[in-house]
Amino acid sequence: MTTKPTTAEDEYFAREEAEKKKRLAQKKQAELETQEKERLKELHWMRCPKCGMELHPILFKGVTIDKCFGCHGVFLDDGELEKVAGGESGFMKGLTSLFK
Ligand SMILES: [Zn+2]
Repeated sequence: MTTKPTTAEDEYFAREEAEKKKRLAQKKQAELETQEKERLKELHWMRCPKCGMELHPILFKGVTIDKCFGCHGVFLDDGELEKVAGGESGFMKGLTSLFK
């Protein structure tokens, strides 16, 4: 059986305690989110987003791109599409602006 606060002082301490528990829960939640991000990064690092096989770095037109030999997909890091396609001109400029 719980006891109800009987005085203003009891209520003050009950509110303080509730605030403290709320802050602890928020801190714990933030820690779990950080841990989950790290776990997912570890799980997916250098894995193909389509088939899950390992990605292998290969040199293509002077740029190291990530290739999947399972589904033959290619993954490009930020800025690599422009480098592989030869810079920011014409068609590529229009295309890359779609993805930014
Ligand atoms: Zn793949």
